[in-house]
Amino acid sequence: MSGFIYDHKPMEIASGDGVYLTDSEGTEYLDFGGNYACVPLGHGHDAVQSAIQDQLADVTFVQAVYPVDTRRQLHETLAEAAPDGVDNVWLCNSGTEANEAALKFARSATGNTKFVATTGAFHGRTMGSLSLTWKDKYRSHYEPMLDDVEFVPYNDSEALADAVDDDTAAVMMEPIQGAGGINPATEEFLQTARKATEETGSALVFDEIQTGLGRTGRLWDHERADVVPDMVTSAKGLANGLPIGATLCQDWLAEDYGSHASTFGGNPVVAAAAEATVSTLQADEIPSHAADVGQTLRHLLERELGDAVQDIRGEGLMVGIEIEGSAADVVADLAHEEQVLALTAGKHVVRFLPPLVVTERHAERAVTALSNVLD
Ligand SMILES: *Cc1c(COP(=O)(O)O)cnc(C)c1O
Repeated sequence: MSGFIYDHKPMEIASGDGVYLTDSEGTEYLDFGGNYACVPLGHGHDAVQSAIQDQLADVTFVQAVYPVDTRRQLHETLAEAAPDGVDNVWLCNSGTEANEAALKFARSATGNTKFVATTGAFHGRTMGSLSLTWKDKYRSHYEPMLDDVEFVPYNDSEALADAVDDDTAAVMMEPIQGAGGINPATEEFLQTARKATEETGSALVFDEIQTGLGRTGRLWDHERADVVPDMVTSAKGLANGLPIGATLCQDWLAEDYGSHASTFGGNPVVAAAAEATVSTLQADEIPSHAADVGQTLRHLLERELGDAVQDIRGEGLMVGIEIEGSAADVVADLAHEEQVLALTAGKHVVRFLPPLVVTERHAERAVTALSNVLD
């Protein structure tokens, strides 16, 4: 066996339960990396598990043109959870595909070709989404990208307003950049994007793949700017660990989307998991729980580490701690010495994306662990 090797972690995960993962030697880890925010309700959540098992017992797969109850329910639940009027649901299997669909729908409905994206952006690794992704590391081996993409400095409202013109099909941005280092957009930047796209008839797409579904203390992070986009993309935690993506869009985009499809999109088993995930997130008021625990986490980080680190950023349970040294080393030490799993977001940012069901006690443990490692 050779090639295609991800960075291997030194432990083998054998099982997961709630906010904990256990390795093959029986060591238990607090999952504060949330495995890239893909498990918002925690590992092995009862409602999600039984929805999956019930659907497996009925039928694993029929293609999307055959109506299935779980898929229909997911469509309804997502349409209700969507921002006002952004309630046409297109299902696929990953985040990059959800963004890819958004780019195609925007070109089809506007007849324009140009896309505007932001420096530091991460939108996925297929050719379209990658063309709107900033970091050279992800792009350089695969060029040429789409050539009609203009990048504007993140949070530079003037540059954004200048870049959006009559040739623009869409503006795509993350309300808080994840992989780019946990950088929140200002409300002004989000509002400028809305105004500029409205004036030119182009589509505003918020990539909420990492920020959405309660992660930042709101169902959708862009709500804090009081704007409604034309499209929202979702993925990652949407089916609590099974592969899914969704492109939510307004009527004018859904009505003139051209021809686009995905064989596995709306897979009944995944749809059942997603339906259970989104319903539970809402019934259990998980977004406001994430806001509360996030506030405690923030407070503890500032109290314990405020002087020792360069910056603490983010909203709710999407938090970046910028340090002087190597974030990868700190994340490795957190796992080995403290049995706490976290992520990096670039070279100097330690990223916390725990399951949204963590409590203040877990937040205390994570902060103590980070403080020990940084000492
Ligand atoms: C992870 C991520 C993607 C890509 O999702 P995949 O499922 O890996 O294709 C796109 N945008 C953002 C903001 C992400 O965090």
